[in-house]
Amino acid sequence: DTTATAQIGVTGLAVMGSNLARNFARHGHTVAVHNRTTAKTQALIDEHGHEGNFVPAESPEAFVASLVKPRRLIIMVKAGDPTDAVIDEFAPLLDEGDMIIDGGNAHFLDTRRREKALRERGIHFVGTGISGGEEGALHGPSIMPGGSEESYKALGPLLESIAAKAPDGTPCCTHIGPDAAGHFVKMVHNGIEYADMQLIAEAYDLLRTVAGYEPARIAEVFRSWNTGRLDSYLIEITAEVLAHTDAATGRPFVDVVADAAEQKGTGRWTVQTALDLGVPVSGIGEAVFARSLSGSTGLRAAARGLPGPEGAALSGEEAEAFAARVEEALYASKVVSYAQGWNMIGAAGAEYGWDIDPGAVAGIWRGGCIIRAAFLDRIRAAFAADPALPTLLADKGFAEEVGRAQEPWREVVATAVRHGVPTPGFSAALAYYDGLRAERLPAALTQGQRDFFGAHTYRRTDREGSFHTLWGGDR
Ligand code: NAP
Repeated sequence: DTTATAQIGVTGLAVMGSNLARNFARHGHTVAVHNRTTAKTQALIDEHGHEGNFVPAESPEAFVASLVKPRRLIIMVKAGDPTDAVIDEFAPLLDEGDMIIDGGNAHFLDTRRREKALRERGIHFVGTGISGGEEGALHGPSIMPGGSEESYKALGPLLESIAAKAPDGTPCCTHIGPDAAGHFVKMVHNGIEYADMQLIAEAYDLLRTVAGYEPARIAEVFRSWNTGRLDSYLIEITAEVLAHTDAATGRPFVDVVADAAEQKGTGRWTVQTALDLGVPVSGIGEAVFARSLSGSTGLRAAARGLPGPEGAALSGEEAEAFAARVEEALYASKVVSYAQGWNMIGAAGAEYGWDIDPGAVAGIWRGGCIIRAAFLDRIRAAFAADPALPTLLADKGFAEEVGRAQEPWREVVATAVRHGVPTPGFSAALAYYDGLRAERLPAALTQGQRDFFGAHTYRRTDREGSFHTLWGGDR
């Protein structure tokens, strides 16, 4: 079509889609824009049309006609059935070699299904994780595209131009792998985000309850942590939230917020998928469960009278020494939860044949996304040095740091237990660390029990083969 001028099109102009379209336009691309409800398209042009070259389209036909071939069409609509409805509407208008990019938070199994169906029609379907929320979409998100290698050749440069840039200038966008690899990695990103937030929440609870610090003081502690190895977006905003005073009451903001954490479901998807893959992601699991517990109003009311330990908060130098140990426990637990997340990516890569570069994933999470952190450059370097690294805990640098942290980490978990402060994230991370490094696990006993009641057989340490013991006299 000689009238086609748009290098890329965005359909679905709610906050994410509008901001992505503006980001493309601001980078000099001509962007076709479309929304089911046309008033939103007009509103985008009215408010932001001056920012670049937009081609507003009222109908799907006009939208498709405005795209240069091979067409690149981004869907930014509500995940689930609406995504299928939009694909069904647009796919018949496309030609072989065109690309549909789903930038929504799709479940990776939906992406696998959609990719397969569209591939059979000669259309590239590129399930793309986009992280960073609305600010990221406008100023530079972290972008995780899946789909074919071929589609990335035509699409990659456009996406890289609008992506966040890591501190070394590299775009936070890379081809993750075929079909649903991008949406899978985005899901794990969100799971890790849950784990990070839970660990930070536990650190806050300990500083408040055990060290006896007020929120404003804890904000200072987080600010100082943010200048060290914990330097990250989440630690930075934690300090902001803790320093914030509620205007209506003059009280610390955290004290006026209801203590029931909500969730949209990507953390839950991560855990459900990890169970299917047989990969322990206890950090993410405990984070999802902690949110569920916080929202279990009836259960919490019923349990309010249960006894807990008596014990006064620490003070003075003791409190300060404790706060320093919390930093160690937080860091070590964080390393464990990232190690678990990367194990999950590795397991899925093997299961689905995705061949994901683990270091590249760390590379594109250094900017734009919610878990962006200086620390991710260390992970990138660890996998660059050894792409087959079985766990982050086996990297020499991380192993040494976690090894140095283990005493304070144990101390913090023990203190939390004595003071009755729940630290499921810190505790589960430490249990995972001890489980992994154990010479012998009690799983040998589990195997004995399974053989006893179910003749499930066991393997031996001293001989090859499968064994069954004839247990008891009359069995
Ligand atoms: P949203 O509220 O999830 O979806 C609203 C958009 O979907 C509107 O444009 C709406 O069109 C369209 N839509 C809904 N049902 C439709 C249907 N059956 N047919 C056609 N269009 C339909 O919007 P959002 O918050 O901007 O999010 C967009 C996507 O990005 C979602 O998948 C979301 O999960 C994901 N997201 C990601 C992040 C992130 O940080 N990465 C943050 C937020 C959202 P109308 O105007 O006509 O109703």
